[in-house]
Order: sequence, then structure tokens, then C-alpha cells
Amino acid sequence: MSIISCASGSSCWRGLDYYKMKKVSNIKKISENEYTSIVSGSDKYTVYVNLIHPRQSTCNCPLANGKRIVCKHIVATYFSVVAGSAKKFEKEQERLEREYENYRERQYKNAIRYLHTMTKDELIKELTFIFNCAPEWIYDGFIRDHNIEG
Ligand SMILES: [Zn+2]
Repeated sequence: MSIISCASGSSCWRGLDYYKMKKVSNIKKISENEYTSIVSGSDKYTVYVNLIHPRQSTCNCPLANGKRIVCKHIVATYFSVVAGSAKKFEKEQERLEREYENYRERQYKNAIRYLHTMTKDELIKELTFIFNCAPEWIYDGFIRDHNIEG
């Protein structure tokens, strides 16, 4: 388990912001895998990071104080003490985003392909459902495009 995999998505992104804005100071190396720092956010927080046991990391901010939560201050400290970790995180996020976009593209193509296999009755049923559930402009557009009168 790494610090990143123990933190929420928003703590990772906010931690990255804090790292980039150089809000981490007074970094001290306690051992090969332990560091302390001061992170200035809405207040100044004292952070202890344990790279081997991320859940043992601590921060005295309201979110993490006394709990086993990996907050943005711990993440910001992690990015500051492990060379290349911020770049690696950003690269990984970009890769995941591309992967998701490709997945959605393939899924869309398969949905269109599936439409072609449906019977007229099934299509009417689906379209009626869309008329009832989709935003009104979709129905209005259909009415307008096909000159349907009341
Ligand atoms: Zn914190």
C-alpha cells in the first residue's frame, strides 16, 4: 500500500496543489522511510509521514487528527520527500483518463451496433422511454424536426 492508494482522490489532487504551491516546509528525515514537515493550509499543520506504513502517518488537521486518515497535508509531504512521485501520479492519472475515454468510445460504438439489432417494437419502446425521461428539449426537438402537430 502506498500513501496515494490510502488517500481519497480529492486528498491526492489537493495534496498535489499544496506540493506545487510549495506549502510544505521544515522537512526532516527521521529515518529511511519517515519524515516530518509543516504544511501551511488554512492553518499550519504538523505532519508525520511513514512511507512503509501509510496509515501510521499523522497530521493534526481537523480531518486527520487522531484518525487513520491520509489527508492532503500527508500527500503533499509525500510528494515533497519522494523524488518524481508527483510526476508519476500525474502521468498515471492521465493514463487512466485516456483509458476511460477509450472505454467510453468503444462502449458507444457497441451501443450503436446494438441499436441495429433491435426490432421496430423494441426501438419504439426505447424511444418512448427516452421521450418520457430525457430532458424536454430532446422531445421538443423531435416534434419540431418532424413537424408533428397537436
Ligand atoms: Zn492534514
